[in-house]
Amino acid sequence: MAVPKRRSSKTRGRKRRTHEKAARPSLSVCPSCGEAKLPHRMCPHCGTYNGREIVAEEKKDNE
Ligand SMILES: [Zn+2]
Repeated sequence: MAVPKRRSSKTRGRKRRTHEKAARPSLSVCPSCGEAKLPHRMCPHCGTYNGREIVAEEKKDNE
């Protein structure tokens, strides 16, 4: 089995990882309330999806 001759330095490893970065979550705007929301997901602000699909309104009672 092949074994590395030299261990890679901190700098080399860090340089290699300069291209790794966390992906920013994509956002879309809710057509009903205008808040930013995740695409293909119900709006957490007004609880609608694809026009009129009212899911929420129960959160306000609990809080
Ligand atoms: Zn909304």
